[in-house]
Amino acid sequence: MSEMTYLDHNATTPIRPEAAEAVVRALQVTGNPSSVHGAGRAARRLVEDARATVAALVGTKPANVVFTSGATESNNLALSAAGPLARLLISAIEHDSVRQFRPDAEIIPVTGDGVVDCAALEAMLIAGDGRPRIVSVMGVNNETGVAQPLAEVIRIAREAGALVHCDAVQMAGKFPIQFDQDGPDLLSLSSHKIGGPRGVGALVVNPKLQLPPAIRGGGQEKNRRAGTENVSGIAGFGAAAEQAQAGLDSWANIRDLRDRMEDRLVQAIPGLRVAGKAVERAPGTSCLALAGRVAETQVMAMDLAGIAISAGSACSSGKVKRSHVLDAMGYDEDLAAGGIRVSLGWNSTSADVEKFIEAYTRFAGKAQAAE
Ligand code: PMP
Repeated sequence: MSEMTYLDHNATTPIRPEAAEAVVRALQVTGNPSSVHGAGRAARRLVEDARATVAALVGTKPANVVFTSGATESNNLALSAAGPLARLLISAIEHDSVRQFRPDAEIIPVTGDGVVDCAALEAMLIAGDGRPRIVSVMGVNNETGVAQPLAEVIRIAREAGALVHCDAVQMAGKFPIQFDQDGPDLLSLSSHKIGGPRGVGALVVNPKLQLPPAIRGGGQEKNRRAGTENVSGIAGFGAAAEQAQAGLDSWANIRDLRDRMEDRLVQAIPGLRVAGKAVERAPGTSCLALAGRVAETQVMAMDLAGIAISAGSACSSGKVKRSHVLDAMGYDEDLAAGGIRVSLGWNSTSADVEKFIEAYTRFAGKAQAAE
């Protein structure tokens, strides 16, 4: 079989060579970062060097970075920051690690283009009952790539005296982030979305906040998350952060590839919709909706053609669940079940995109001819 063409970078982007090398090097360093001897200090140095590069990627001080097992944990930890009795206001398009956190979360609607409705947020905050509040809005949506009006969300939340959390997993390394200058109070990151290893992430925390410990034990991560640090994972994350920051200006090419791909597909396939095309999006993401074809069928057809993409919708217990993101954007049932995500990343090429255009156009043509 020829090599797989990988267009699922929003799920996990391939590890950057510098990050893979850093992981291997760290695995060869013996020592517990909490030990005071030389071996322990060498391991500690790896963790603290990584903390510095992750902090630099988001414009904050290393002391504000708490390493976690990934953004799912970071999001859970962040949302506990205002206490169990606080009102939790989340956008309708958040990742499940935010949506599933509390069943009583209040949902901030989005527009038809997938942008958080700031006027609605403002009204929800005004209608307060005196409880503390925490607002959670992602920087960039993982399914559509739509960039959210973060500065405005932060302004509205601050004026109302609410805390703000941002899931910046799909934003980091693609857009500049300045946490210390009018950033949110809490910000989640994931290593495997920026070219680092899986199973490691970070929560960036405003130092004025008192976070309850995520895990109790030996007091690591300044008592915010106990347990011996995942030194090799953290070292790889640090190296990936450094590369992601150096590559911040290199996305114009990926944006061009994505835009040209969409233009050609829309011309070739009648009825194809590109979600959020009219608004600002992260450079590599394209969410394509084709009525009458469930997303899973499309993903499987592309897999057979040697191309990895993903479904906007998810399949659980044999039933296809519509994409909650396209649902929230007002797509009808048929279209919301037919949304796929094609996501390009740091090593994508025009050959990858050509292969997808060819295979997807053929698939859609056959499907439409069979109707
Ligand atoms: N938030 C968003 C927006 C994501 O795309 C993901 C990964 N699918 C997560 C959170 C969870 O990250 P992790 O895999 O590190 O737990």
